[in-house]
Amino acid sequence: MTTPSADDRRTRSGDRREPTTGRDAGVETRIEHDDGPASADGLEYEVVTTPVLVVGAGAAGARVAIELAESGVESLVIGKRDHGDAHTTWAAGGINAALGSLDDEDDWTIHAADTLNEGHHLNDPDAVELTAKHMPDRIRELEAWGTPFDRTEDGRINQRYFGAQSYRRTCFVGDRTGEAMLETLVDRARELEIPKRENVMITRLLSDGERVAGAVGFDMESGRGLLFRSNHVVLAAGGFSALYRRHSSRDDENNGDAQALALEAGARLLDLEFVQFHPTGMVGERYGDEWDGRLVTEAVRGEGGRLYNEAGERFMERYSPDQMELDARDVVARAIAREIEEGRGTEHGGVYLDISHRDADYVRERLPTMVDRFASLGVDITEEPIEVAPTAHYTMGGVDVDFRNGETGVDGLYAVGETVAGVHGANRLGGNSLAETVAIGKLVGDHVGSVIGADDAEPDVTDEHRVLAEREFLALESLADATGDVTPRELLADLGEVLWDHAGILRDEAGLRAGLEELDALRERTADLHVDGGLTSKSFEYAVDLSVSLTVAETMLRTALERTESRGAHYRTDFPETDEAWRANLVVSVDDGERSIRRRGVADPSPAVREALEAGYELDYHHLE
Ligand SMILES: Cc1cc2nc3c(=O)[nH]c(=O)nc-3n(C[C@H](O)[C@H](O)[C@H](O)COP(=O)(O)OP(=O)(O)OC[C@H]3O[C@@H](n4cnc5c(N)ncnc54)[C@H](O)[C@@H]3O)c2cc1C
Repeated sequence: MTTPSADDRRTRSGDRREPTTGRDAGVETRIEHDDGPASADGLEYEVVTTPVLVVGAGAAGARVAIELAESGVESLVIGKRDHGDAHTTWAAGGINAALGSLDDEDDWTIHAADTLNEGHHLNDPDAVELTAKHMPDRIRELEAWGTPFDRTEDGRINQRYFGAQSYRRTCFVGDRTGEAMLETLVDRARELEIPKRENVMITRLLSDGERVAGAVGFDMESGRGLLFRSNHVVLAAGGFSALYRRHSSRDDENNGDAQALALEAGARLLDLEFVQFHPTGMVGERYGDEWDGRLVTEAVRGEGGRLYNEAGERFMERYSPDQMELDARDVVARAIAREIEEGRGTEHGGVYLDISHRDADYVRERLPTMVDRFASLGVDITEEPIEVAPTAHYTMGGVDVDFRNGETGVDGLYAVGETVAGVHGANRLGGNSLAETVAIGKLVGDHVGSVIGADDAEPDVTDEHRVLAEREFLALESLADATGDVTPRELLADLGEVLWDHAGILRDEAGLRAGLEELDALRERTADLHVDGGLTSKSFEYAVDLSVSLTVAETMLRTALERTESRGAHYRTDFPETDEAWRANLVVSVDDGERSIRRRGVADPSPAVREALEAGYELDYHHLE
């Protein structure tokens, strides 16, 4: 591995736990350094021991670490970027909690019932109920910690509709809710002096399939190898929507790291076939690659925006004559996908979204961000239509956990946030993912804190751990030196096409099988990789992404093939109906080196939530405010 830089504060091997100051003033990261050659190969790497390792510095990871710190347990939070710069910051619309600020009939059981209805009853009832029940407290807590939620005129936390809800339940901070929330959590983490490391990428968990013992990765700035030794590892590393050609995430986030790491470590994955496509993403062919897939807020439709195909037909009349453009995300996304697939789209591969029939001043007042963004691209949305197409937005599937504690079935390995499956079932209700991060994050932190024992404070690093880690470091070095002909970026782009074409909004058996074959061909091409710039380069990061992405992509294709029905976000053109016999989750595991997929029945909700379901609250697709 690379030689550590001269300013690294190091001690001789055996001098444990010299404190090192993190880049965040006042916060110390206690790490054990080990600078002696650690093997006959002369590999040098840093060893870090911590009672709890939290992989992921978004809202979920931060909330877990805060809970641990408040119960006196030290953790180390790591992320692939600077602290405060997680995917969470992109969440705009809001976070759900049945506060009843405006609609006092609302309560947590109705929130749970709405979530189950939108999830087509594939959700884990425990996950849904714990989230809905705890959210009012979590919002008040965020407020107390400083999140500047919008207010009603009489000073209560304001709430709005967000997609399909029975009542106004979404709390928000303008159109920057995720960013404001993460700022609050990071500030709180600073106050509690929670240790952190930035720009660290985990590439493997130390696991024998039964028990986790830490993780291995590298410092993305120095290229130095890192062995994290910990008896408790919390995966909070996000989802995998960025695997698709068009997606609303950043290219270098949401690549499926968490799911691949978990599967390889012996954990189970669940329902990977459910991917939420937002109906209106920007079209790269029209506005430039950097804008491809970025969200055009649903508020444009909420404010009366109309969808037209190339022939000028308001096509939603054919798909949803009552709800029209305001129908559920999956319905509108499917309608647009069909128009494009059947040749009625624009030359750039989209459809038109038009709000120009509304008064220009009203549009400027209600949709300022959209007006400004398109103006910067030379388009006046008060005068002309924009071009949109569906974009992969959120992954409902993920790691299979027990929501009461975050346990994965591998001792010491927990997971939380967009990493896991369960809260959202077959489709996600807008505003529920931020809710899940903090509601379940607190519970996981609480549980991990309660099982920490005296032996966990300074876990030993055994020869076996070193052997596993060194094998990984050698593999990483050899990847960084790859001198073939094809770049990781090219292969990731091709992977995105495979998923878009074969596991997109409309799927069928022939397409999914073709996708698997194309994936095999892609895998063969990885033998000819070319990595530019070594261990600290973006090219190398993408090469690592590629290996995890292939695992997750294959699992998605296989589960989508297995589920021979249509439900929520999973639409099979060869099985267009929902089949009650398929009210089951698909559990993926690797047993004796073989991937297996099996069905598991879904539990029933509690009597209180059943009552709310039976009361039949209207799940309507309201105009956004
Ligand atoms: C455009 C957009 C708008 C959205 N709007 C809303 C909304 O209005 N309301 C709502 O509820 N939800 C919304 N969502 C979804 C929501 O933002 C996410 O589901 C949520 O923020 C996920 O939080 P998280 O903590 O689980 O993961 P993330 O915020 O994705 O954090 C993952 C962390 O893991 C780290 N990481 C990943 N891989 C590794 C690795 N290998 N090694 C080390 N670290 C790693 C990352 O660096 C990061 O720190 C939106 C999403 C998008 C894309």
